[in-house]
Amino acid sequence: MARFLTALILLAQVVNGAPAFDLLVDCLIRAKVPQYIPGSERFERNIVPYNLRFNFTPVAFTVPTSVPQIQTAVRCASKYGVKVNPKSGGHSYAAHSLGGEDGHLVVDLKYLNKIDLDKTTNIATVGPGARLGNLALGLYNQGKRAIAHGVCKFVDGAALEYLSNLPNELLSSVTEL
Ligand SMILES: Cc1cc2nc3c(=O)[nH]c(=O)nc-3n(C[C@H](O)[C@H](O)[C@H](O)COP(=O)(O)OP(=O)(O)OC[C@H]3O[C@@H](n4cnc5c(N)ncnc54)[C@H](O)[C@@H]3O)c2cc1C
Repeated sequence: MARFLTALILLAQVVNGAPAFDLLVDCLIRAKVPQYIPGSERFERNIVPYNLRFNFTPVAFTVPTSVPQIQTAVRCASKYGVKVNPKSGGHSYAAHSLGGEDGHLVVDLKYLNKIDLDKTTNIATVGPGARLGNLALGLYNQGKRAIAHGVCKFVDGAALEYLSNLPNELLSSVTEL
């Protein structure tokens, strides 16, 4: 029975004689989607999770610089039955942006970090890869604007509940996702 299951798993990972992850990496290369090749130093460095207790190995790691590249990466993954995870800040406690398990395609959004402030409405359009530092600087440099934000090392439930009753916290500034 165990041998039968192993055979089934191997079968699922092989498409036309080549492992799905090889085909996926090849599909990304052919479509010119920037990626860190599995096993390379950059790949290994970028899959280190924020929480070192949760280590997962994606089958491929892309670093697109445009929306069409993201669409192509998703199409490649879909073609070979590989699950996809976007990664923004990478702070998920359970390493969900690495998939939360082995074998996903990671789409790292770090280069989609543009911040555009509309000075008539004071509404900013912010890319998913933008960090708080990028946001604070972008808003200030483009229009001398600011939003409530901060970094805290230790937040407990009570503190969150207290803060959530105050106006002007970061989330209340979000108009659309
Ligand atoms: C030390 C520490 C302190 C924290 N403190 C707080 C706190 O005070 N308040 C609070 O609310 N949270 C807090 N968190 C939790 C943190 O905000 C969440 O884990 C949040 O999801 C991290 O955002 P990220 O961009 O890093 O997500 P990632 O780790 O990049 O992704 C998290 C999940 O969202 C998915 N995802 C990422 N980007 C996108 C996208 N653009 N579109 C769709 N899905 C996407 C990923 O695939 C993954 O499943 C804390 C976490 C840590 C480690």
